[in-house]
Parts: sequence; C-alpha cells; structure tokens
Amino acid sequence: MPIPRSPLQAGRSREAAGADTLDGDDRAAERTAPDPRTPDDGAPGDSARAGAQAHAGDDAQAHARNHRARHDCLIVGAGPAGLTAATYLARFRRDIVVVDAGRSRARWIPRSHNVPGFPLGVAGPTLLERLRTQAGEYGVDIVAGRIGRLERADGAFVATAEDGRSWHARTVILASGIVDVMPAMPGLEDAIDRHVVRLCAVCDAYEARDERIAVYAPVEEGIAHALFLRTFSPRVAVVRSEPGEPSPAAAQAARDAGIALWPPSVSLHHDGECCVFIFHHGRVQRFDTVYPVLGGDAQSQLAAGLGARMDDNRELVVDAHQQTSVEGLYAIGDVVSALNQISVGVGHAAIAASDIHQRLPRNFRDATVAG
Ligand SMILES: Cc1cc2nc3c(=O)[nH]c(=O)nc-3n(C[C@H](O)[C@H](O)[C@H](O)COP(=O)(O)OP(=O)(O)OC[C@H]3O[C@@H](n4cnc5c(N)ncnc54)[C@H](O)[C@@H]3O)c2cc1C
Repeated sequence: MPIPRSPLQAGRSREAAGADTLDGDDRAAERTAPDPRTPDDGAPGDSARAGAQAHAGDDAQAHARNHRARHDCLIVGAGPAGLTAATYLARFRRDIVVVDAGRSRARWIPRSHNVPGFPLGVAGPTLLERLRTQAGEYGVDIVAGRIGRLERADGAFVATAEDGRSWHARTVILASGIVDVMPAMPGLEDAIDRHVVRLCAVCDAYEARDERIAVYAPVEEGIAHALFLRTFSPRVAVVRSEPGEPSPAAAQAARDAGIALWPPSVSLHHDGECCVFIFHHGRVQRFDTVYPVLGGDAQSQLAAGLGARMDDNRELVVDAHQQTSVEGLYAIGDVVSALNQISVGVGHAAIAASDIHQRLPRNFRDATVAG
C-alpha cells in the first residue's frame, strides 16, 4: 500500500466534504506573461533595509517607498516554509519582503515530536516564534496582510494586498500553505489541543499508539488512512463522513486488518477525554482519537491566476529548484504537491532561496563596507 499523504491533503472541495474550512479564500489573479530575469534597475539592498521598509502598515511614507522599490523577492506566507526562505535570502543579503495573513497551520500544533532538533517536542506557536526571531536577526520584517492579486508588469511581479498596498518584486515565493477542511463539531480547537482530534497521521500517530482511533472520512479514503494507522494501534475504525460503499478490494483490506466501518453519524462532540459519535437510533461510540480526513484547500489561487501548473488537488507542481511552471514564481511548503510536513517545507525553502539568489543579478559586497 502506498503510504497515504498526511490527512487533509486530499484537496477535496469544501462543498464535497460538507464541512467547514477555517480560513477564507484568496481571489485568483489575472494571467500575464512572465519574465523575471530582468536587468537590475537599482542596487539590491541589505535585508535590514528591506525589513525596515516592509513595515508599511503604520508608515505611509515607508510604504510609498516600498511600493516603488523592486524587491529581489516577495515571500507570500510566514509559516515554517516562508520564514525559512526569508532567513536564507536575508543571509544572502537580498532585499526581500514577507507578507503574511497570519493563519499558519503550524499554529494548531499542540506539540510536534518529529521536527528535527527538538527531542522533547515543540509547540507550533513556539516554533513559529523562533523562526520569526531567527529571520528578525537578519532584519526581516513581516508585513501583516493578505495578497489578493499577483500579476506581471514591466518584467516584475506586482502583488496587491486586499487593502490596496502593493509590492514589486523580481521573484516571488509562494509559501501560502493549505486550509484544512474540518468537521463541524463544537470546541474543535480545544479537541485538537487535547489530542482527541488529530489532523496528521504522519505527524503524530506514534503518540496515539494503542488508542481507540477513528478515521472520519469518505469511506474509501478512510480505509486507506485506517490501514496506515494500523501500524500504531490494533483498534482502528472508519466513521463515514458521508454515505457510500467501499470498493470490494478496500472492503476486503478493511476486513483483513480488522477495521470496523461505521455509517455516517448524527453528531460528533468531545468530552475532553474522548470524541463521541452519536449514530441513528441513539447508539453512542467513543474514540480516544479521531482523525478527520476531509481534504484541504491549497492556497494556490495567486499562482493559478498566472497559469501555474497544478495537480488534481490544486497543489502546485514545481521543478527540482521549487520553481513553478511560471518563470520566477517559486512555491514551497504545503502549497506544493508533496508531503505536508514542516521538514519538507523547510527543505523546499532552502532550495528555492538558493536558486533565487543564483539567478538574481550579483550583489557583490562593497569594498568600502568591508573596510
Ligand atoms: C494539528 C496539526 C498538527 C501538525 N503536526 C505536525 C507535526 O507534528 N510535524 C510536521 O512536520 N507537520 C505538522 N503539521 C503540518 C504543518 O503544520 C504544515 O506542514 C506546515 O505548517 C506547513 O508550512 P507552510 O509554511 O507551508 O504553510 P503554513 O504554515 O500553513 O503557512 C502559510 C501562511 O501563508 C499565509 N497566507 C496564505 N495565503 C496568503 C496570502 N494570499 N497572502 C498572505 N499570506 C497568505 C497563511 O495565512 C499562513 O500564515 C501539523 C498540522 C496540523 C494542522
């Protein structure tokens, strides 16, 4: 069996899943022809200057300068992937700006145990804070805002935020992630915090060893995830999120693995220790952990507007340097068609940032600066 990608990657639409998303949609942008390899029209500045200029929210003058400047790179999104790319590019002394809508998936992580270098685990918000601090050490500032439009003009990318601010950049890294489709249940955030709802089997099934686990999903996808979870517990079931029957092969695989298949429930709630499904005729079933597998909305709309190639889940297809099919437009992290993991996004960031540095006009160090 192929290892399923982490739950909520399936990219099923919100409507199809019949559930709630936790974020809004971006608007797609107008399609234009790309050409980022343009001659330098101004000396690339140190990232410290970029950072100072980037804090445009409070300072109209700074923003006016920012608007006119052509940055080496605009990074859309300050999750683990975007923040890592920012640190790399700032350390390459590139003039960058980061714009972020503040909805990183990592903020949901109560404690991750598979991020390299944290033997005792790390909470998502702590990791984000540390990555921000690290980028800040090199002068990167992060502008709060949501880019609503990305287009090409005069050999550069022009990104416009929903509040009208805009930035020009030679290259763009899209690190905008995905938005999880969540089950409709009261106290969902608390349930995640208490580990009675988990969202990523690759991330944390190890911590759910031997628990009573339910996968809440359309039955065919549910069985695939349940089979993956059987590595960790002998007590795994599928609760259908919608009516449907599995293929004979999937049904047989479920039987062979001892995976019970439940019909759609009437409701789902948690009591702090367990998730509780209530079925028709009042039957109640409790599970220690529920993994919803309802899909996710890849935040690829900006790239789609420029004609970038995507897979069936609307996740971006990139080359070996993380460049999309649009010249100069890179994508990293969850928005890319790949395994949705922090360490993967961080690796993407290193690759994209190094390639961007190599393609941009050289920024030789001035001898007078070196003394
Ligand atoms: C409960 C939970 C537990 C998890 N546990 C683990 C774990 O243990 N280990 C692990 O490796 N992974 C884990 N993950 C997955 C991990 O959180 C993601 O893989 C990671 O956050 C992806 O990073 P990213 O930078 O690509 O995207 P994100 O962290 O999602 O950041 C994207 C950022 O871009 C912003 N953005 C989007 N569109 C725009 C726009 N148009 N303009 C401006 N900003 C925009 C968003 O607001 C957000 O701030 C977990 C996820 C969840 C939900």
